[in-house]
Amino acid sequence: MSLTVDGDRLLSDIDALASFSDAEAPAVTRIVFTPTDLKARTWLKARCEEAGLTVRPDAVGNTFARWNGSDPAAPVVGTGSHIDAIPNAGKYDGVVGVLGGLAAIRALQQSGFRPKHSIELLTFTAEEPTRFGIGCLGSRLLSGTLSPDAARKLTDNDGATLDGVRRGAGFGGELDEVRLPSGYYKAFIELHIEQGPLLERQRIPLGIVTKIAAPASLRVLIEGSGGHAGGVLMPDRRDALCAAAELILAVENAARTSGATDTVATVGICEVFPGAVNSIPSRVRLSVDVRDTDLQRRDIVVRTIEATCQSISVKRQVSIDSELLNADAPADCAPAIIATLSESCRRHELNFLPMVSRAYHDSLFIARIAPVAMLFIPCRNGYSHRPDEYAAPEDIVRGTVALAETLAALSK
Ligand SMILES: [Zn+2]
Repeated sequence: MSLTVDGDRLLSDIDALASFSDAEAPAVTRIVFTPTDLKARTWLKARCEEAGLTVRPDAVGNTFARWNGSDPAAPVVGTGSHIDAIPNAGKYDGVVGVLGGLAAIRALQQSGFRPKHSIELLTFTAEEPTRFGIGCLGSRLLSGTLSPDAARKLTDNDGATLDGVRRGAGFGGELDEVRLPSGYYKAFIELHIEQGPLLERQRIPLGIVTKIAAPASLRVLIEGSGGHAGGVLMPDRRDALCAAAELILAVENAARTSGATDTVATVGICEVFPGAVNSIPSRVRLSVDVRDTDLQRRDIVVRTIEATCQSISVKRQVSIDSELLNADAPADCAPAIIATLSESCRRHELNFLPMVSRAYHDSLFIARIAPVAMLFIPCRNGYSHRPDEYAAPEDIVRGTVALAETLAALSK
């Protein structure tokens, strides 16, 4: 089988999709279920139908575009990603996986290939948390990670419910029907820009993801006692910021001493009250983000941090409240799909790098119900979620060729 991906068409598709934006080019802003998002979806649906695919949206707007195999009852070989974009983002995050997936299907059709297993392009709803405050909304529902009841309680910044918004956008039916039956997928592969600098730095055109890291996040509230910066002597102080300082260093230390480079921990928010030069801090709010590729190791770090909160609280006579906001499990990619991807890279004499996905993606959740793998392409300087996000045409095409070959091998 000789495969030719129409690179010009793929690039012009990427440009066309970028034109559906609420920000001025080159920035892209496309928030889920806004009129702009709906126009983009209509455009994409037309492109899928042009390719002869049968398009089916579910109740939350995840959209399946199916190329029927000769055995339509056989488990599906899936690919796809997302087209929503955070405010002031670029045009490649997610989009490369959706339009690359479509280009891969077109290339296979043109080559005369006929799949036995149906091949489906899936566009996930709301990978970005911008509107409803939760990332990977569509894939969480598809995988049963988020219950329909919990989803019905979600509201956007204006107080509109997910249920109302998605119905208003034309996605009817019940959220209870979104979850995919077990065994639905034979395999799922997501093509994505790396969103990091490693491939570019090492001049390697493709990354094959072996593990997807996942975060746990905590909100920590420290309450001590305020007072005049001159009037209260040191033995009498219960300074909330000094307690926070100890905790921040303990968070760093917990990750550094986990025994693995994959463990990372970050305090990204530190809000000090009242925040005056001559006032002892009485209250501090911290955010803690802990990520790892290994669930057990990550959770040990989280528990260490929680125990440290306790000991600092006793030692410094402050109250420390920590709340675990979320703790998604990391995922391993499927060895069989990794092997197929590696084989297709070798066939095209493409060097590839086995790597960890440190950002998380819809594939993290699909991994709970299907064997998954991810294919990364380089992006300039590792930039993502900004208007100057850029992936080179030849890298996009190479990734698409490797994807197409893998879809073919898995759907035979
Ligand atoms: Zn993405």
